[in-house]
Amino acid sequence: MNTAHKEFAHALRAKFPSRTIPLHEPWLSIWDAFSVAKSVSTGFVSSAGPAVTEFEDLLVAKTGVPHAVAVSSGTAALSLALQVSGVRPGDEVLMPALTFIGTANAAVHVGAIPHFVDTDISTLGVSVSGLSEYLKTTARHERGACINVSTGNRISALVAVHTFGHIGDLDNLKALTEHYDIALVEDAAQALGSRRDGHHAGSWGRAAALSFNGNKIITTGGGGALLTQDNEIAQRARHLATTARLRHAWEFQHDEVGYNFRMPSINASLGITQLKKLEAIIQKKRKLLSTYDKVLDDFSLGFMYREQEKMTSNYWLQALMLNEPDVIKLEELLLELNRLKLQARPMWNLLSDQKPFKSNPHADLPGAKRLRNSVLNLPSSPNLS
Ligand SMILES: *Cc1c(COP(=O)(O)O)cnc(C)c1O
Repeated sequence: MNTAHKEFAHALRAKFPSRTIPLHEPWLSIWDAFSVAKSVSTGFVSSAGPAVTEFEDLLVAKTGVPHAVAVSSGTAALSLALQVSGVRPGDEVLMPALTFIGTANAAVHVGAIPHFVDTDISTLGVSVSGLSEYLKTTARHERGACINVSTGNRISALVAVHTFGHIGDLDNLKALTEHYDIALVEDAAQALGSRRDGHHAGSWGRAAALSFNGNKIITTGGGGALLTQDNEIAQRARHLATTARLRHAWEFQHDEVGYNFRMPSINASLGITQLKKLEAIIQKKRKLLSTYDKVLDDFSLGFMYREQEKMTSNYWLQALMLNEPDVIKLEELLLELNRLKLQARPMWNLLSDQKPFKSNPHADLPGAKRLRNSVLNLPSSPNLS
């Protein structure tokens, strides 16, 4: 084992109390407990009652995106986002190979085929130049649709994923998708509180998905939300999420096949108090980044990934980038940190290598491979600083 790795791991260990330090745990307080207790004591535990609407209104206020529909998970939010953006069964959906599997699962849940593209190593978003070159040879643009020339399928959407809370070059991605008549959808599961050019995540796509899973920047236990600028899209998403039932005092009339995706009040009530501390959480994450910076200063292992120009990131997960991609070094460092009970982890294995997606279409993935072999996430809980 490289001694610099060992020394770095020990220097990091010395910064935190001597217990297992998880990769990410939520920041919960007695106020969160009171809020949930209020839901229970008023009898509004399911999706009726004021909490869900209050949570949605608060999301709109915090993000500046005009419509929010709270649902049961980030995956559900992304499935809905794809469907209401026009993705139909048999379509292909472009997305990074380097993302959490939920991104691809959401596309499969609406009958679509994930089609993997590369990640830009400086923004951690979809590589605009890579995608632009790739589409020139892979796609044909005809009669307002984009067709994959080798499969004949329609490519109906691109999912931009905001990795660790960093928003990629969405202006240029948006222009590229408009050129090809592809719907832009944002997987903003990791990006609540992140802005680019002052615009919150969810401001570019036809629709965007947030997640409030237990490991995300704020949590509702489990949950998600669809964000959109478009009132009609919001109405349709809400309708689909509530079994597509038509308004009537007692009759059960449904005009299409919907889902039971609505967020229960118990979860929304936790979301309300969690969301109120979002700014405080982000402050803490920025502090944690400077702690890591200082420790890393004494070693020549790599650098902490920082927000790019124009970005204000939520720094959901802190990312250490080795100077050079080196799987052996990465594994050694992961081993040593985890042995010391600091839960570090690498980025996701490429989706194009995962069992369910091995035969799916994909572009060349040099950026994704480089990142997979050079990045590790360090413990990132807000209560660490
Ligand atoms: C967490 C996450 C999801 C899924 O959200 P759930 O609430 O766990 O369903 C999807 N995409 C990305 C990028 C995520 O990080």
